[in-house]
Amino acid sequence: MKKEFGKTTVECIQGDITAQDDITAIVNAANAELRTGGGVAGAIHRAAGPGLEEESRPLAPIKPGEAVITGGHDLPNEYVIHTLGPVYGRDKPEADLLANCYRNSLKLADERGIDSVAFPAISTGAFGYPLEEAAGVAVRTVAETAESLENVLLVRFVLFGARDLEAHEKALSELG
Ligand code: ADP
Repeated sequence: MKKEFGKTTVECIQGDITAQDDITAIVNAANAELRTGGGVAGAIHRAAGPGLEEESRPLAPIKPGEAVITGGHDLPNEYVIHTLGPVYGRDKPEADLLANCYRNSLKLADERGIDSVAFPAISTGAFGYPLEEAAGVAVRTVAETAESLENVLLVRFVLFGARDLEAHEKALSELG
């Protein structure tokens, strides 16, 4: 499923964030220390190789909602944007912090002249953010931010499971 916002196409697919060969920057649902771990961060660090953690170390720690950028190392992507989602029930207000993740990642990409960005469903795994709520925040924030982007022409949500895909497609279809 696809929709246009300003110059930017927003689409949702089911898949693996580490296998997006046609995307310039993928976003990592990182931990504060920018270390490997479980979930998306583990998959991205495994695919990128140890150089990713080495390059990331001096940029850590980051706070919820912040985003930083590194190279993609052994990934098929030129860049990785690392953002720290809120832990649901701890980092408040959750919706604002989650929106900051998407907004700050896209602004950073746009400043670097990046044309395409792929996001996982930030905070919806180990960080416990309820899926439907998170999908609404993610899709609304990307759509709003896209109106003012110059360089980012494609934003792809890469959802791991069928339920994740469904929630994001529903949120996207509900937007004007
Ligand atoms: P967080 O700590 O921000 O909650 P997680 O990595 O635990 O991040 O999970 C975020 C979401 O990413 C979950 O929906 C999880 O199923 C999904 N996910 C895990 N591995 C991948 C992957 N390789 N590609 C895309 N999504 C993934």
